[in-house]
Amino acid sequence: MDGQIEPIALMAVELGKLPGIGQKTAQRLAYHVASMPLDSVRSLAVALWEGRKAIRFCETCGNYASGERCSICASPARHNGQICVVRDPRDVAAIERMHEYGGLYHVLHGTLSPMSGVGPEDIRIKELLARLQTEEVKEVILATNPDVEGEATASYLARMLKPLGVRCTRIAHGVPVGGDLEYTDEVTLMKAMEGRREL
Ligand SMILES: [Zn+2]
Repeated sequence: MDGQIEPIALMAVELGKLPGIGQKTAQRLAYHVASMPLDSVRSLAVALWEGRKAIRFCETCGNYASGERCSICASPARHNGQICVVRDPRDVAAIERMHEYGGLYHVLHGTLSPMSGVGPEDIRIKELLARLQTEEVKEVILATNPDVEGEATASYLARMLKPLGVRCTRIAHGVPVGGDLEYTDEVTLMKAMEGRREL
């Protein structure tokens, strides 16, 4: 094998692990990187490496943060008694994009999935229950995805929370069944939030 082909193939393999990058695109990007000045490649690599190292999770809600708490938890205005429960930090970003919701979040970092062996102790459910003890919570909005696992997680949480006397709502099905919050447009997401119902 030609010694010069191998490093490009290696770059293509790594680039191809990114979401939305097929084999062809990975190869095209690898050839592009191969033609870039070394300094530019170093800047790209350093930005990814340092950026990734700087990412932390908010100790309260589990969202991405640069310090102990995320900017949402750190803002007094957001402490309005509402906690919106989502699967991962990308869902926080999706809901924030519609500029409608003014409360706090709780990121589960997963959804219940008996098939893949994900149980209640594997996602941040006990952290949510702990928050109900220390924070003044009037409503928990269950905004997990409207797919099988998201629905199972929402009903599990509703069963846990109801006896505690917390108002529990579920976002409406403006979000397509089997859909992904991250890829839902703001208007649909807003309607889903407005149409949330008691659980
Ligand atoms: Zn937070």
